[in-house]
Amino acid sequence: MTIAGADTHVHAARRIRESYGSGDIAITLQLDPSLSEGEYIISADAGHVIISGGPFSGVIYGVEELLARCPDRFDAGQFATPVTGKPGLPYRSYWTWDHSTNWELSQIGHQEIGVFNPYQKPPGGFHADYKRLVDFCSRHRIGGIIVYGFLRDSHGGIEAAQELCRYANERGVRIIPGIAIGAYGGVYWEGKHRFNLSTWLKANPQHAAKMSRDIGFQIADLAFPLNFPHSDYTVSACPSAPETIDWMEEAVAWLAETFEIGGINIESGDYGVCDCDRCTARRANDAEAARRGEAHGDSWSHTDMAENFPRLYRAAKAKRPDLWIYCEMQWDNLLDPVATEAQHKLPVGAIYQHTANRSFWKRLRSELDPSYVASLPTQPNVLRCQFASQWNGDERTERYAFNARSFADMATRGAELGMQGLTVWGEASDYHATVELSYLAFARFSWNPNLQWDDFVAHELAPRLGGQAAAERFIAIAEELDAHQRLASYRLRALQDDALAAMTALSGEPARRWLTLAEQIARRVHMGR
Ligand SMILES: [Zn+2]
Repeated sequence: MTIAGADTHVHAARRIRESYGSGDIAITLQLDPSLSEGEYIISADAGHVIISGGPFSGVIYGVEELLARCPDRFDAGQFATPVTGKPGLPYRSYWTWDHSTNWELSQIGHQEIGVFNPYQKPPGGFHADYKRLVDFCSRHRIGGIIVYGFLRDSHGGIEAAQELCRYANERGVRIIPGIAIGAYGGVYWEGKHRFNLSTWLKANPQHAAKMSRDIGFQIADLAFPLNFPHSDYTVSACPSAPETIDWMEEAVAWLAETFEIGGINIESGDYGVCDCDRCTARRANDAEAARRGEAHGDSWSHTDMAENFPRLYRAAKAKRPDLWIYCEMQWDNLLDPVATEAQHKLPVGAIYQHTANRSFWKRLRSELDPSYVASLPTQPNVLRCQFASQWNGDERTERYAFNARSFADMATRGAELGMQGLTVWGEASDYHATVELSYLAFARFSWNPNLQWDDFVAHELAPRLGGQAAAERFIAIAEELDAHQRLASYRLRALQDDALAAMTALSGEPARRWLTLAEQIARRVHMGR
């Protein structure tokens, strides 16, 4: 086997060797800077395959395409006519918190919700979880992973974060720390570090935010109230104090310099705003006042964000020009112009992320106009799905639901509306088939927003579930379970029998998928609902 370019494209070469062992194989791996990020061309010439890829991930995605087309035996003939691929939505990312990202199920300390949580797993759990998630993203062409809690002493601090970046970069996946301006711990989420917010505020208490309301937020699409106990995690700094933004700017520059990150997700903090005189004066515009009133109860400020984001954006880009810098525009406000004037200061090239809860997405998908998206002062724009996760739904939450149709719809309709990307929650393990197949829908429809649902079922789900009829039955059972928080015992038992019968007829991964569905049902049978 000869692989030219193996020294540069280490992971791509490793995947080829893992899959084909040795043999009469000649492949060239090469970067083609004229292609876009993630794009690839696979061609063949007299039995020799050439994979050309765009920056960062193109060669790796090309190799995954080769392996998908020739899973058992290398066959250059498949590429006599070149095969090409290019992301339909350039920005495809998972959003995660470190404490509730559970991809390695063989360890203690799982949590499933919360934004102010201690880390409860063994320190090595951080790598165990995130490396599996990176592997999934690399194979399924998901561009980046946003990580809140990227820096935390209890899971290895700086060294562990550096190693995660190294591992992910090798595999063509961007690690994107999530931070907030004067909130959510600053840049170093937990630990006695100079860029940890609580540490800094203990030394500089005069810059603490003056909050007139209690901290926290509530979500209308979630059936129960959220709990926000006060602690070192919940402090905030005043964003009008020049010292706060100087400190944040220094911290962001340090972050971009110290870690081979692929981006930064920056938000203004969503658990309350500072009500000091300077902050109140800056936010004195009608649109913001209306958003903070009874109807919406916003616990963040668009003006704070628009005033402060540009400095942090420039500080990060100066250190690493190719970063994806997400600017979180917060929830359910894309149809109401908020702080439009201030938003003209927001730099072109950051990625403006608009978050939607389930009922707001229903409105957006019919009321939003592509010409409105094109005319926004912020460009480019992406959607973030706040449902299909622990943050929407009834007491079960939607975290383990079959969310494939939601992800497909947001990618497809989002692309029609002029959106350039989609971010979804990616914390739950792909062990659960409902989760795995939902992630697959996210990956495939965000790569190709023109994909049709029936083709997705036929080409992606059917082979994974034991055939076309089995796939249709799996979807029907999963959707019936999701739609009803309570089902009669006799119905649950009938569904369990179906799932177990399907499992018994199969083996390997298809059987595992049916087993996890049957297990979901068995749990409900045991609970009597
Ligand atoms: Zn203030």
